[in-house]
Amino acid sequence: MTEAKSARGTQDAPGVRYGDGTRVVRAGLPDEEPYAPPMPGPVLAAHYHLPGDPSTAPYTYGRDNNPTWTGLERAIGELEAPGDETVRTTVFASGMAAISAVLLSRAKPGDVVVLPSDGYNLLVPVRERLEGWGVEVRTAPTGGDAQLEALDGASLLWIESPSNPGLDVCDIRRLADAAHERGALVAVDNTLATPLGQRPLELGADYAVASGTKALTGHGDVLLGYVACRSEELAAPVRLWRKTVGAIPGPVEAWLAHRSLATLELRTARQAAGALAVAEALRGRSEVSGVRHPGLPDDPAHETAARQMRRFGCVVSFTLPDKGFAERFLDALRLVDDATSFGGVRSTAERRGRWGGDDVPEGFVRMSVGVEDAADLVADVHAALDAAARG
Ligand SMILES: *Cc1c(COP(=O)(O)O)cnc(C)c1O
Repeated sequence: MTEAKSARGTQDAPGVRYGDGTRVVRAGLPDEEPYAPPMPGPVLAAHYHLPGDPSTAPYTYGRDNNPTWTGLERAIGELEAPGDETVRTTVFASGMAAISAVLLSRAKPGDVVVLPSDGYNLLVPVRERLEGWGVEVRTAPTGGDAQLEALDGASLLWIESPSNPGLDVCDIRRLADAAHERGALVAVDNTLATPLGQRPLELGADYAVASGTKALTGHGDVLLGYVACRSEELAAPVRLWRKTVGAIPGPVEAWLAHRSLATLELRTARQAAGALAVAEALRGRSEVSGVRHPGLPDDPAHETAARQMRRFGCVVSFTLPDKGFAERFLDALRLVDDATSFGGVRSTAERRGRWGGDDVPEGFVRMSVGVEDAADLVADVHAALDAAARG
């Protein structure tokens, strides 16, 4: 077996830096072994044969570890921090399980935690939980690096860039440097970008955290989350939290996620191109205001996004005149499902105001562009806007 064919197949061959498309198809695969499958199936086991001293056993009990998780964790680590052997990834049952694991395992009474005020809506109950434990929580918006002002005395800074659903962006490197100067750890929610769009650990973050439910797995059939960091010391409390609360992914979900990674480059490239085409089309329509997509050259987030992101994601947000208009628009779309979540191969859109959690106008729509032909999506959007305008 040659070096290049061995497991750590995403490691660069001597003198070569592999591209993302090459990396994703090999990420996390085991060493080549005659007559073994290239990608082993899911391991369904509540416990493992365990002779003698368990302290060095790789697999003991199904809540602690699983070989299918190991493969996925290696793969995600190779994408979040290519070439870095120190990366440690822990997969979870969902994005919220991963987010809670970092925030709830780190914060102690008396600590100061800085959250985005415009982040994922379930940060609100997490905030309340932290406050109930005697943690001081400060919030500030993502745009304009406003979290900088809240950092004095903080022990943990939570960044979400681009933010969901507003699509604001902050300068991750700048915020991470300022937080580290004050002794705070930094976590970045990388859900929207995926590791192919942005690598928070390379931008100075201590944790890259994400929901794998969205673009990472991309088929709308799996819930998953992960935390990637660069040391055992940072990873250990997160792993212990997973084991303690039992927020573990099923082996089949972990396997589906790993399988989906092979197409991550294809999917995210096509989604980003489609999202830009849809955003440009929306901008040409007089009924549509506030079109946001970090890839639009004159978007307020574009300059910072272009410095730290490698592709701009599949989400476009915009505002229609009112609730009724937005509902008629969503109803008239033929290729875009009215559904929550984002990042899937099939386009979806929803009126975020229906949940009541985000601070957005009634006509605000978040659209996730799938892998359909961009021209078909643009035509569908124009037709649905026409239909909605007719009433
Ligand atoms: C969806 C989402 C989450 C939560 O992930 P789940 O897998 O649904 O638990 C967290 N952060 C962001 C930015 C998200 O979009």
